[in-house]
Amino acid sequence: MRLQNKVALITGAGGGIGKETALLFAAEGASVVCVDYNAGPNEEVAAAINAAGGKAIAVKADVSKAADCEAMVKAAEDTYGKLNIIFNNAGISHADDDDAITTSEEVWDLTFQINVKGVFLGCKYGIPALRRAGGGSIINTASFVAILGAATPQLAYTASKGAVLSMSRELSAIHAREGIRVNALCPGPLYTELLMKYLNTEEKRQRRLVHIPMGRFGQAKEIAYAALYLASEESSFVTGSEFLVDGGITAAYTTPL
Ligand code: NAD
Repeated sequence: MRLQNKVALITGAGGGIGKETALLFAAEGASVVCVDYNAGPNEEVAAAINAAGGKAIAVKADVSKAADCEAMVKAAEDTYGKLNIIFNNAGISHADDDDAITTSEEVWDLTFQINVKGVFLGCKYGIPALRRAGGGSIINTASFVAILGAATPQLAYTASKGAVLSMSRELSAIHAREGIRVNALCPGPLYTELLMKYLNTEEKRQRRLVHIPMGRFGQAKEIAYAALYLASEESSFVTGSEFLVDGGITAAYTTPL
């Protein structure tokens, strides 16, 4: 098993990428701290892991709140004695996020509170725990839009993911000598709740698919496997990367015609 004796904290574990990653990490031997502000689905994920013979606890926390982030890390150490892996994955894409003229300050601030401050707080309270464990791996979910921008305006989201990418790069340099690796995981468009609530007609979906060389949306599980690699010792020389798992969309846009 690839994560034997490891303790992993995953935010946004109640759905999408976080849920698939929690199930996969547990199947690979990790004890998993499932974190989400949506308690019900998160508890179901932890229960499914335990029912399958794995180890998990569910912690209700809003990653934009410092006290919640401190408590989730404490829960990991109190329950399992240490923390080795942090997957700062929780994020939102607001329905009213648009271009610079239309996007409200409220939407901008909320997006940054969760997508950027949430990652910062996960690192603020998580890094001391990784130090206590003698090192570890941090994976921050950015997006392909951090590199490309998005053709459909979602300015706050795009800017927030740019911040996650640059924050991850800087953290990787700061903590490399402590044995703490930090990578930004950059998914392409996925078939999850977050995106499909906007691409809610076949016409809209097809319009987006035109731009993806593979001609399909990614599955949350395909991102979970990338997170597994970044979490495990197999990626021991990988830090500061923008780990693109995007069906080729970034290559298609950055390759000159
Ligand atoms: P999702 O909406 O399916 O799941 C996100 C989870 O995060 C939910 O369970 C939600 O309750 C939780 N969450 C949201 N805000 C939270 C908060 N403040 N505190 C705690 N939990 C919170 O989304 P997903 O597609 O699995 O997205 C996961 C990550 O991947 C996000 O950071 C998203 O921006 C990123 N991403 C998604 C796509 C995509 O196409 N779906 C592409 C690139 C990047």
